[in-house]
Amino acid sequence: MEKPLVIFLDFDGTVAYRDVGYHMVKRFAAPDWEEINRMWEEGLLSTAQCAQKTLDIMKASPSELEAFFLEQELDPGFPAFLEWISTWPASIYIVSDGYDNYIAPILQKYGLAIPYYANHLDYAGGWIFTSFHSNPECGKCGTCKSSIVQAQTPPGAVSVYIGDGYSDRCAAGRCDIVLAKDALARHCRENSIAFHHFKDFHDVIRILSRIIGQGEKKIGT
Ligand SMILES: [Mg+2]
Ligand SMILES: [Zn+2]
Repeated sequence: MEKPLVIFLDFDGTVAYRDVGYHMVKRFAAPDWEEINRMWEEGLLSTAQCAQKTLDIMKASPSELEAFFLEQELDPGFPAFLEWISTWPASIYIVSDGYDNYIAPILQKYGLAIPYYANHLDYAGGWIFTSFHSNPECGKCGTCKSSIVQAQTPPGAVSVYIGDGYSDRCAAGRCDIVLAKDALARHCRENSIAFHHFKDFHDVIRILSRIIGQGEKKIGT
């Protein structure tokens, strides 16, 4: 019997080559966004508070955002990764503290369908933050990734987390195997969380092939 894999993927800066949410704000919000973002990184604001304060100073029409989203690209190795993982008994979820407003069209642009959890932006003259997957016990995240990891990992499955940023910290700590880069890699290093460093999804394929094929951690057989 093979142990099933459950793979949780961050979107911004992981599946998507760039952090789309960050670049959206950088491009369309007034300069004060940097101070608001700093407060979020320091844990002084929840995602919902940070997002709404930022959206309040963001000037972009729905069509401007739509065009911007469609310019965005996925990690160059991601389609190959999906093809490779399709040969394993694996479930895949995108867990994002960003917005489905761009996840859906970017995946569609590449002809991909992957279940995702994310926040949502509504437009009513200005942009309004909505979160469908917050967790009252957490109170920090918009989309609380760790509660999704918990809910979607069946007993006996091996969970894998792949991410790059601040919003991945809590969820990554709950997974059996962590692949990290940038801020998430620094966090893992500082907190003695075992992780594999990756640069892109070609690395992810190499790393997971090695782990899946290994004796001690063998997943499968
Ligand atoms: Mg990210
Ligand atoms: Zn949370």
